[in-house]
Amino acid sequence: MSDIDHPDRQDSGADERKKEYEDVCFICRRPESKAGKMFHLPNNISVCNDCMHKTMDAVSQFDYQGMLNNPAVLNMLNNQFDNKSRQKQGESEEEEEDGQPREPQKGFPSISFINLSDLSNDGIPRKQKIKRKGGDKKEKPAFDIRSIPAPHKIKEKLDQYVIGQEYAKKVISVAVYNHYKRVGTGTMDEIEIEKSNILMIGPTGCGKTYLVKTLAKLLDVPLAIADATSLTEAGYIGDDIESVVSKLLAAADNDVDKAEQGIIFIDEIDKIAKKKNTTSRDVSGESVQQGMLKLLEGAEVEVPVGANSKNAMVPLATVNTRNILFICGGAFPDLEEIIRQRLRRQTSIGFTAELRDKWDKEKNILSKVTVEDLRNFGMIPEFIGRLPVICTLAGLDKDMLVRILKEPKNAILKQYQKLLELDEVKLEFSDDALEAIAEKAMQKDTGARALRSIIEEFMLDIMYEIPKDENIGRVTITRAYIEGTGGPVIDIRSNNYSLSDMEKMNEIPQKSI
Ligand code: ADP
Repeated sequence: MSDIDHPDRQDSGADERKKEYEDVCFICRRPESKAGKMFHLPNNISVCNDCMHKTMDAVSQFDYQGMLNNPAVLNMLNNQFDNKSRQKQGESEEEEEDGQPREPQKGFPSISFINLSDLSNDGIPRKQKIKRKGGDKKEKPAFDIRSIPAPHKIKEKLDQYVIGQEYAKKVISVAVYNHYKRVGTGTMDEIEIEKSNILMIGPTGCGKTYLVKTLAKLLDVPLAIADATSLTEAGYIGDDIESVVSKLLAAADNDVDKAEQGIIFIDEIDKIAKKKNTTSRDVSGESVQQGMLKLLEGAEVEVPVGANSKNAMVPLATVNTRNILFICGGAFPDLEEIIRQRLRRQTSIGFTAELRDKWDKEKNILSKVTVEDLRNFGMIPEFIGRLPVICTLAGLDKDMLVRILKEPKNAILKQYQKLLELDEVKLEFSDDALEAIAEKAMQKDTGARALRSIIEEFMLDIMYEIPKDENIGRVTITRAYIEGTGGPVIDIRSNNYSLSDMEKMNEIPQKSI
């Protein structure tokens, strides 16, 4: 028997082909990898779960009985039938014999009746399968949440990406360790371990979001990042509070089990502080805090799959938030003053009274935050109570910004060096150039976020000019170039001859500040 005839071989060949190609939904045209498992109907028609549900919903809500009792509807159906038969005889639908346009159809113009037999002949969808995208290669996660490593190991990994913020990294490593240990063991016999949701307080651009993103990547758990400013009480314009869970479900590819062990990061949490001196209903402040209580604690919520709001056409999934780790972050701008006032009040009593103005000079005042300060800021006690782990992040100073430029695993300088390496050009930055970049970033007052925009601004010319000349072997960025008073130092490949002379420097336009 030849290879081709062998039934086993044929089968395995068909299996291989099956893996290589995936089904496409007949209605929404999404492939199986996006839309999930398909229903297979006769004639090789596949329909995804969502479309099948929508169709069933639409069919079940349609009032056939009432419709067929209605003479107007019956009349319309008859008209449709007449039109169809007339079309078949070659008559135009729009014009009568005398050339006058026919009156448009009344009734239900958007409802069309599908004749299933149309599908079985020429209507067979031939392209019901598309090729899968480049294999199932997936990076191995650094940690397995089922056997979560000790907190110091988690922090070690975080150190490779996040610079400074030692205290926050330590607090978060312990909180995450406890949380996933709790998830792994399930409910303990008698003592139920409480959830360790986290509140992160720190100025903008100091790495709050970055820390959470890095953590989720290391643990390989789904992460949803939501903005508290867009949330409002259910029924008002804005996103429902439960939409954050819906986002997480989407991040978990609609896998409820995966989503239930994910992380939800809610940024700008200080914006939902209770509004002071307001007489109207606080739908985007206190009410949102109230609405989040049950999510933070753990509740079963019904969330729409693949959409932001619930409606009849969207299937719902029930997600339990008991094992979802909530991390809230915010800059809390006026909190420092509240803390100072409290500390001043405390030190103005008794023997320590002379230290009153000591707190005015204290830099790291945020680290002294207490629950009472947060309450004075406008967070309701029940809400703070459900975020038992509070950690503060320090604003970034010049040294930290310089380290952020060069040290993290995916540091921005390393990214540019890699890009130029592909052109076989070595890119270097002198130490004072890095300081100059950090100084510029400090002026912008947006933390590390400013670094990228500054670097991109002056790297544009370098990235444009360098590939022009194949002889260039090394470029060194200097402080003078950053400050717009000179050019970079360029070394030629062959004899390592330094061309820091004016002639070569002028090839690259100097930046003006
Ligand atoms: P925010 O605190 O406002 O959430 P982000 O976490 O979004 O700020 O920080 C913006 C960017 O700055 C990040 O994408 C990251 O690249 C960089 N960054 C900020 N802080 C750090 C840090 N401590 N270590 C490394 N990179 C950082």
